[in-house]
Amino acid sequence: MKLIVVSNREPYVHRRTGDTISVERPAGGLTSALDNVLKTLNGTWLAWGSGSGDREIVDNRGRVPVPPSSPAYVLKRVWLSPNEVDNYYTGYSNRVLWPLSHLTLDRVYYRRQYWDSYRRVNQKFADSIVEETGEEEVTLWVHDYHLCLVPSLVKQAAPSVTIGHFWHIPWPDWGTFRILPQAKDVLEGLLANDLLGFQIPLFVKNFMNCAKESLDAGIDYVSSSVTYNGHRTLLRAFPVSVDFAFFDAAAASKKAYAIRRLKEHLGITAEYIGIGVDRLEYTKALLKRLQAIDLFFEKYHSFIGRFVFIQVAVPTRLSEPYISYKKSVEGLIARINDKYSTAAWKPIVYITTKIEHRDLALYYRIADVAIISSVYDGMNLVAKEYIASQSDEKGVIILSEFAGASEELIGSLPLNPYDIETFAGNIKKALLMPVEEKRSRMRALREHVKTNDLRKWTGDFISAIEGCHRELHGAEGGMFLFLDYDGTLAPIADRPQAAVLDKDVRAVMDRLRTVCPMAVVSGRMLSDIMDRVGIKDIIYVGNHGAEIWDGTGIVPGSDGPVDTGVLDEFKERVSSVLGDVDGVVIEDKGRTISVHYRNVDPRRIDRVTGDFRRVADGYADRLRITSGKGVLEARPLDAWDKGDAVSWILRNFGAGRMPVYVGDDATDEDAFRVINRTGVSISIGRNIHAQCYLGEQAEIREFLEWLMDKTTK
Ligand code: UDP
Repeated sequence: MKLIVVSNREPYVHRRTGDTISVERPAGGLTSALDNVLKTLNGTWLAWGSGSGDREIVDNRGRVPVPPSSPAYVLKRVWLSPNEVDNYYTGYSNRVLWPLSHLTLDRVYYRRQYWDSYRRVNQKFADSIVEETGEEEVTLWVHDYHLCLVPSLVKQAAPSVTIGHFWHIPWPDWGTFRILPQAKDVLEGLLANDLLGFQIPLFVKNFMNCAKESLDAGIDYVSSSVTYNGHRTLLRAFPVSVDFAFFDAAAASKKAYAIRRLKEHLGITAEYIGIGVDRLEYTKALLKRLQAIDLFFEKYHSFIGRFVFIQVAVPTRLSEPYISYKKSVEGLIARINDKYSTAAWKPIVYITTKIEHRDLALYYRIADVAIISSVYDGMNLVAKEYIASQSDEKGVIILSEFAGASEELIGSLPLNPYDIETFAGNIKKALLMPVEEKRSRMRALREHVKTNDLRKWTGDFISAIEGCHRELHGAEGGMFLFLDYDGTLAPIADRPQAAVLDKDVRAVMDRLRTVCPMAVVSGRMLSDIMDRVGIKDIIYVGNHGAEIWDGTGIVPGSDGPVDTGVLDEFKERVSSVLGDVDGVVIEDKGRTISVHYRNVDPRRIDRVTGDFRRVADGYADRLRITSGKGVLEARPLDAWDKGDAVSWILRNFGAGRMPVYVGDDATDEDAFRVINRTGVSISIGRNIHAQCYLGEQAEIREFLEWLMDKTTK
């Protein structure tokens, strides 16, 4: 399957200077993440060729292999005239759709010629995409608000292309969206997508409401989909993120002298530093931020001379209203600096040149507080970059409630940028926050951004488009259902023997197995789990993946040699330490030693787990320790885990099927990691990371019935 990415901006720009052509890579985590995806999949990236040297190095179809140093995919350029750039880009995209989506309605400036040009340019993009589609199956990933009409134009010409579109900015509510003269055309363009992604669930909901009010479309709020003219578009939130590892490493690698040098370079000697990093953009509310800083010094005199705010504001759009906005920002900075500066100190350091990410990490790290004050923002990546750069965990982030990022970044100080009194108070609160509180907030924030990084975002989006593709072309199609036993199919019981399968659950499984292949995956011994479930013609996985029954016999390989000597020794040591403790049950499952402590007096649980871990520490190089609900387990390091078992099953029995896995504990996460790119992970409760959750175990019957219903429809 071939992947085509299309965006307004290109990932490599060729510039001519005198006799030479050089290549530039517009900085930005997102561009490099997509660049990596295309490098792996050898696809094509289509974009406006905006560089002065761009035309000189392409073939007659506008194509050039990139990266220039070691070509891995094709960049195909679409050519726009200066008039088209003025009308389609500066006009309709940036003076109509941008302010509309950011709820700054008095800034919407609409001209008929903008729309005419927007339509023509979208057609150009679509034609260029269609030219790239041949016999091969194609998946198209469209980016952003510049290309609303591309999906419908491509679908008309090449209906078999699967299209996913990510909308990077907010989607407004219907009351706002309806002022757009082309509201209906824009919605119709987008509803040709098979998948439409937004930053947060609110924007998904807003979009559905707009489709409901404006078009005669079928809205399914439960599955988040819109059916229009017989075509279904799936809507999902995919919060975009940053390359955590990059910022973390870039910040951590800087030694004390680098920090000193940067402060000297900026002329900062003050005790406290704050930072704001933005494109010079009115939605970032730079004026409100500056008013709050003014008020902060006015109210809290003791910070005069002790707090410096670094404002990086890089102009990226060079027309109105940005020219006037820049003047206002600079005027206010000058007034504040005049008002408070002393001979040795000025409150605001203002930077207008772009700082590259590798250097930006240090700016973030030296700042005690970052301020993100957007009046409306799809996500705000600066917030996540600041968090990723806090390698010493001490920064505080003040974050507008109206930035998409605020939904996820629990631990930041929330801000209503319109309330500058509280805003000023928050700056003080951030600076004076006890170190322990700062650290515990920042630790949680970093954990979140680390697990939900940019790689996960691209992976999730691609998997979701692949899912749509399977649905669209699904020869074999359908799903492969994996079900964990304890805690998922059966409620957790006091003793392992007491966990039984409800007869209604068994009955619905029995019906489901006739419409989709199914495997029960358990930490129990294979023979035990097969007896307990007792359904024929399904696959069973025992011992957390180490034993597989494929319907005819135990699969060779999964049941490979295991060093039982080390397990026997471990069992003996654990028994000597914990064997006599009331409530502890030690179970030997052949390939796993399980220590159940569910019935131990709660006051003694810490002691039991502590003693277990002390014994286990001595086996770190031979045994893998996992914990479940009321149980700790040890298995040989090379034994198959649930992830290994699931990928084996999918390879052998699941070609073309979408894996759906329901589980409830840490050992199921091994399987989630395997299927997350192509399937759906579902957890019972929220103790583990999954794409979706059921509230409690008791909901499993209803869920399986719902699946049965959907599968047979
Ligand atoms: N940025 C940068 N150097 C600068 C100023 C900004 O690289 O000097 C980058 C910043 O690191 C972030 C992006 O510009 O990656 C801004 O993204 P954000 O989501 O915060 O706002 P947007 O510009 O998309 O509205």
